[in-house]
Amino acid sequence: MSVIAAGALAFSTACEVVSNKSAKQDTTTLVTTATGASSSDTAAAGGGVPATPPDSLATSAARDTGVVTLYPERPVRGGVLFALAEGVASDIPRCSWKGAQLPCARVSKGVLAIVPLPADEAAGTFTLSFDRPAGRITRQVTVADHDFGRELVFLDSAHYALVKRTSDVARDARALRGVLATESDVRRWNGKWSAPVQGSRSAGYGVERFYYRAADSSRAISLGPDMKTRGTFGLDTSAAAANVPSWRHAGVDIAAARKSSVNAPAAGIVADVGEYILTGRTVIIDHGQGVMTAYFHLDTVLVRRGDQLSAGKRIGRVGATGLATGPHLHYGVYIHGKDVDPAAWAAMPAFVRDEAKPKSAAP
Ligand SMILES: [Zn+2]
Repeated sequence: MSVIAAGALAFSTACEVVSNKSAKQDTTTLVTTATGASSSDTAAAGGGVPATPPDSLATSAARDTGVVTLYPERPVRGGVLFALAEGVASDIPRCSWKGAQLPCARVSKGVLAIVPLPADEAAGTFTLSFDRPAGRITRQVTVADHDFGRELVFLDSAHYALVKRTSDVARDARALRGVLATESDVRRWNGKWSAPVQGSRSAGYGVERFYYRAADSSRAISLGPDMKTRGTFGLDTSAAAANVPSWRHAGVDIAAARKSSVNAPAAGIVADVGEYILTGRTVIIDHGQGVMTAYFHLDTVLVRRGDQLSAGKRIGRVGATGLATGPHLHYGVYIHGKDVDPAAWAAMPAFVRDEAKPKSAAP
């Protein structure tokens, strides 16, 4: 049992983000090869059991070497796994992760799969597969565990009241989940990603946050080992109705002065602009092929839904709207509807970062 001195963490930054557990890859359980040939991999739910031998003889596809490049070498819960099947030339590539369909894309060097490893999913060893005419390629990937820590957040009565607006929170969550789960076909960006706010420290991805009234900060509060957050914010609205509301923090909080410029870290299209109970003034950018970024608690929004953004375009100014106890930017990265650590995303390897034929975005 950990006992946290209440005063020490009082009024730390409190903001939230929405995740999406109903992502598509959770629903499809069987993937067949493009030729209908005999891959009988029915990969049990939860993954981890290779049902087919590894690479079969690749004879039909020139330059298809069966080589899969994985990055990083040691994937960690909360991070991202980047996987390139070199030379695979399917126009409609099919991939799977944990036995469920995973969106993947044809790129100049083969087929690229980007696997989100959200903090809310367990560590373990799972199966990644690529289908191709010459037979399925499979890899066993071990995702290491990580302790994201826990925090107490004390809210004044006005902010605490926001947490308790359960029906409004649920409505907002449905809207945001819907936006974050969309998959547009075209990759809109290329090159290195920048930070959305300059020169700032960012922290907090994956931490479990428990919300109390400010009046509770005068007493010592103990978090029992069994106290768990109820998913990421907005996913399970019962969290707001719980005795101790709690959600996992699904992005990073970047310290910045009020009205600091917030800039698009890469090109994309504005998928949503809204004002929500907990996330405040909010912008979501769709970068294409299942990559989305979210910006919460903005003071001012400077873009509209549908705007095409080039990298570095100013989208708003830092604020403290919604469930925020001081000005900061909450920055979230979502892959196929699931949150990941933005730092892990930005650390993408060159085979992801530099693609020969991105769609250019208007300035
Ligand atoms: Zn935050």
